[in-house]
Amino acid sequence: MAIGVLAFHGDFAEHLEILRTLTVTGLEVRSLDDLKKIDRLIIPGGESTVISRFLAETGVGKEIIRRVHESTLAVYGTCAGAILIARNITGKNAPRPLGLIDITIDRNAYGSQMQSFETEIIVKGIAKKLPVAFIRAPIITKVGTDVQILSMHKGHPVLVQQGRILAGTFHPEVREQFAVHKLFLRL
Ligand code: GLN
Repeated sequence: MAIGVLAFHGDFAEHLEILRTLTVTGLEVRSLDDLKKIDRLIIPGGESTVISRFLAETGVGKEIIRRVHESTLAVYGTCAGAILIARNITGKNAPRPLGLIDITIDRNAYGSQMQSFETEIIVKGIAKKLPVAFIRAPIITKVGTDVQILSMHKGHPVLVQQGRILAGTFHPEVREQFAVHKLFLRL
């Protein structure tokens, strides 16, 4: 089955490019029909409020929730994607959460675009340090007992996993880092 990348808005093209490099078939997902063809979905960075609107209008949001509960869909949310899949979202104009992973996440917690930064992080199970970008990133402020922390940065979890759901507050695709995608493909 193909790996889907939610393609309403945001940097879905960069994720598809990584999938191409890893020689797995990627598919742009915009409809319920597209969702039927995939068993893994990447929700990219962008504006969580915008993506949320499309998820509601198309019914894709509800179907993602149903498929996850049925255990037929694995999801990796990055940045805006991580916000959307959280159980609770705090911060101004918080969109409606899909509630796929037991975390609380604070939208735009680092501040404005000016506070965006690049750094290297250490991820459990990945041998080398990953250079990644935090772009108007959220901060994970609470994790449930069933959630595993795979990476921390400055005292905050930045990559977490619960079963086949993965949430990362950084962008690996901006620095063309494939390791987190590979980890997701193994879930
Ligand atoms: N701040 C954005 C939001 O709340 C997320 C930024 C990103 O995905 N790079 O939707």
